[in-house]
Amino acid sequence: MKKRIAILGSTGSIGTQTLDIIRSFPDVFAAEVLTADSNAELLIKQALEFLPNAVVITNEKFYPQVKSVLEKEDIKVFAGQDSLEQIVESENIDMVLAGIVGFAGLRPTLNAIKHKKQIALANKETLVVAGDIITKTAREEGVNIYPVDSEHSAIFQCLSGEFHNPVEKIILTASGGPFRGRNRSSLSGITKAEALNHPNWVMGNKITIDSATLMNKGLEVIEAKWLFNLNPQKIEVLIHPQSIIHSMVQFADGSVKAQLGLPDMRLPILYALSYPRRMETKFPRLDWQKYPNLTFDIPDIKTFRNLALAYEALKREGNMPCIMNAANEIAVEAFLNDRIKFLDIADVIEQSMQKATYVGQPSLDDYIATDLETRKITEEIIKNKNK
Ligand code: NAD
Ligand code: MG
Repeated sequence: MKKRIAILGSTGSIGTQTLDIIRSFPDVFAAEVLTADSNAELLIKQALEFLPNAVVITNEKFYPQVKSVLEKEDIKVFAGQDSLEQIVESENIDMVLAGIVGFAGLRPTLNAIKHKKQIALANKETLVVAGDIITKTAREEGVNIYPVDSEHSAIFQCLSGEFHNPVEKIILTASGGPFRGRNRSSLSGITKAEALNHPNWVMGNKITIDSATLMNKGLEVIEAKWLFNLNPQKIEVLIHPQSIIHSMVQFADGSVKAQLGLPDMRLPILYALSYPRRMETKFPRLDWQKYPNLTFDIPDIKTFRNLALAYEALKREGNMPCIMNAANEIAVEAFLNDRIKFLDIADVIEQSMQKATYVGQPSLDDYIATDLETRKITEEIIKNKNK
């Protein structure tokens, strides 16, 4: 039996790489559902190739275009955010690959867990916003969440066979992004193009900016706390510019396990889809001669303040990570639209964290309300900045 996969966000960087894998293993995996926000053309092209049972285009403007082509092929076409949330309930789905970016991924992923679908999780924001609800529901429903994020996949692989052994700490590696080693004054005039030019990975725009500000690593610290049930003091970040060691676990006896490989997202995606099996691939192999030096450094949180803000949000618990996430989404979008400067991103997030309403023990509705409120507050802060 093939594993039938619903790819949420099939037109994105993670989504298209997941389809590359399905294309390579047509006897093992099938694309059951594909979804996209507004890239109708690519969604249609993907659907014509993979012939899923259904597709969802969340931006309803593109519904007629998608429907007119795909209904001839007997592919069901739905539109809107509610359809995205409901489609994961389908009986024919074995696993949901959560590859949507941002808060928009939360509700469909949670609904998939409620319907006992296994999850391959790329959408880290889901755990940042509502890690307590997501992990609790997954436990109740007996659902496994397989990490797609390369660092978390590395930790997951290092923990294999170590179930009962005490972990002293985990070490999340970070490339440091395009501005590693720079000081604050040299970052004041950074352009969008410079920030979008990541040294080791090609990814969607939002995560690429998050990598340049180190917010991505901050989000990953929070993601790791929930995935591996760790106290924040046990999660360390280490700069490793070559991105060959994807992360490490240090056990109570002092021994350290690391997982290594080329920076290629298809590896963690495939592992999440095929676990516990390892499939044979023709992906490029690591050539050690090309990497004579693997180097390490501590992160500069004075320059890259977003990482410190993430630890702060984690310490304050409640809805603070949700506030931070919403403020970051708005700030990154504003930076990409040339409305604020690179160094403003952290200021805007910090101010939003001070202004938004704190809730100690939030429900799902509280998280949704927090997200909305924070987006408004952050927009106001940005508007006032530009007056
Ligand atoms: P992307 O921007 O390339 O793709 C995002 C996908 O989500 C697209 O298919 C888009 O149509 C869909 N989408 C966007 N907004 C939506 C909305 N409001 N409603 C419904 N669908 C929407 O992003 P990406 O780089 O593929 O990243 C996806 C997620 O995976 C992010 O959470 C990111 O942090 C995480 N991740 C990505 C990488 C990577 O290498 N790209 C690595 C690790 C983790
Ligand atoms: Mg990562």
